[in-house]
Parts: sequence; C-alpha cells; structure tokens
Amino acid sequence: MEKRAQLYEGKAKKVYATDDPEIVIVSYKDDATAFDGKKKGTIQGKGSINNRMTNHLMKMLSEHGIPTHLIEELSDRETAVRKVRIVPLEVIVRNISAGHFASRYGVPEGIVFDDPVVEFSYKNDELHDPLLNDDHAVALKLASRDEIARIRKMALQINGLLKATLSEAGVTLVDFKLEFGKTSDGTLVLADEISPDTCRFWDSQTGEKLDKDRFRRDLGGVEDAYIEMRRRILGE
Ligand code: UDP
Repeated sequence: MEKRAQLYEGKAKKVYATDDPEIVIVSYKDDATAFDGKKKGTIQGKGSINNRMTNHLMKMLSEHGIPTHLIEELSDRETAVRKVRIVPLEVIVRNISAGHFASRYGVPEGIVFDDPVVEFSYKNDELHDPLLNDDHAVALKLASRDEIARIRKMALQINGLLKATLSEAGVTLVDFKLEFGKTSDGTLVLADEISPDTCRFWDSQTGEKLDKDRFRRDLGGVEDAYIEMRRRILGE
C-alpha cells in the first residue's frame, strides 16, 4: 500500500489517501486541544500512545464481534483504516458523572449511575457540538432511525467490553466518546479513536485522573498519565 496526498488535517490526526480508494492512512499527532480548540498545546509522545492504544482496543472489540475501521498498524503513529463517511454524531457513553454531564445538570463528578447513559451530540465545531436526541438526529438526516438503534446497541456493547478490559488494568472507565462511519457498501463500523484523549480514565484505587482532563484542567503530569495508561493497557 502506497501513501498518497493528505486529504484532511484535524486537531489530533492527519488523514492520507492511498493507492486503494477504500483505504486511508491516519497519522496521530502530539497536538492537543480543548474547549473547542481555544486551548492548544502539545503532549509529547501522545500520537504514538493514542495510535497504539486505539488499535489494541479496537482489535479486542473486533475479536468480540464489533466491526471497526482498523486494517493494520503501519508504524508508531500511522495506521491503515477502511475509508468511511463519518456519521456526524459524537456518541458519548457515561458510567459515572463528570465533565459536561456534571456542569450541565449541576451535580458533582463521581456519581456512579445504575445504568450507562448514552448521549449524542451533533458533530459540528461552529455550533459547538450541540446535544441532541434521536428525533433531532433523524430530522436533521444525520442518521436513520435504524442506524441510531444499531449505534446505541454497539456503544453499549463496547462499554461493557472496555470496562472489563480496563478494570483488569486497575482503571475505571468514567465516560468516553465514539464515532461511527459507513464504508462505501454502507456497512456501519466503529471509527476514530479510543484513547486518553477521548475517554475519562480514573485509577480504580486512588481515583487519580489518567486522561486528557490533566491537560484541560492544568493538573500537571499530563505526559506521565498517558505513559501510565500505555503501561497499563499495552504493558510497556
Ligand atoms: N469527548 C471527546 N471529544 C469531544 C467531547 C467529549 O472525546 O469533543 C469525550 C471526553 O474526553 C469525555 C467524554 O467524551 O471522555 C464526555 O465528555 P463531556 O461531554 O463531559 O465533555 P468534556 O467535558 O470532555 O468537554
């Protein structure tokens, strides 16, 4: 497979075409942003950790029957994935209150829910990713009713599988964001990434934050948290 022109540059990744129209290469950057891009910085080594952690977790998910875009890890930072049209929904699953759930509803962080909460945002930076429900998403033609039902079911399965894997590594999965995409033949697959950028990870014993909240909230030890997650999940 041959790397061709850059198709797109996002906040944390670049995407390149290949000689195969069904395959693109994602390249993970060390750049970090928060608060709609208003806060910018670099997290040394993040690109490699997020690339490899995402692939490790997606491989585990696909072994449990979840279809993903993963094809092959090419290097520390680069992975070949199936080319998809991203469904413009941020699919958030929450097990414990944190972040916008806590601020929006005026509750403290750390409330353990009886059942996971699945929530959708419209993936649109200009509108600041507004929260929406199934009816809104269907009305806006972001996805069909059936696709939303399948996305919700997969998101809950993924939550169960990730929670189990992380718990073995002494990590509590607080919440996370998923993105799904459709291949040229219409197959719905898990896309994007699963990393400390897109999940909240708390040490199961101490409650210490091991994710991007350290960057968002200027808590220090940002690089060390990513390295600790690499050690726990990838064993190195
Ligand atoms: N999240 C993300 N990208 C976004 C918004 C949220 O990856 O654009 C992740 C975030 O890291 C957290 C979860 O989704 O694990 C829930 O985030 P929340 O809605 O609380 O918003 P945040 O406080 O992270 O902006």
